[in-house]
Amino acid sequence: MQTTTESSLQGTMNISFITSNKGQLLLLLDQYLFRCHKKTAKKKYWVCIHNGCKVSIHTDINDTYVCGGDTQHDHEPNPEMIAIRKVRQKMKERALEETIPTTMIYEQEVSNASLDSMTLAVLPTSLEMSTCIKL
Ligand SMILES: [Zn+2]
Repeated sequence: MQTTTESSLQGTMNISFITSNKGQLLLLLDQYLFRCHKKTAKKKYWVCIHNGCKVSIHTDINDTYVCGGDTQHDHEPNPEMIAIRKVRQKMKERALEETIPTTMIYEQEVSNASLDSMTLAVLPTSLEMSTCIKL
């Protein structure tokens, strides 16, 4: 990542959000995931979900990036896990809206996601996935 001043970073950080399988909102920045650990009237404080990692991000209550997240993590990102979470979220959304069997949604989403073989190897099976979707 390029070195820029904090003021020029503001509003330009490419953050997005995904929902964990427990329904918790997770912040995604540069293939690192953060969970909300504190919320005040004006701000939310997010910390990296990796055990012991201290990298944190501040957003306002509307989840707009304010500052943080520009320090180096002491561990590698986990793009496979993020890809899986995204696929799982998509499946869950579709399962709620559509009436086709979850196994069919699973197959369609897995092929749409064009996951690499390593990610596919750790992806839950359609049976595990449909159990988790129904929760
Ligand atoms: Zn981290």
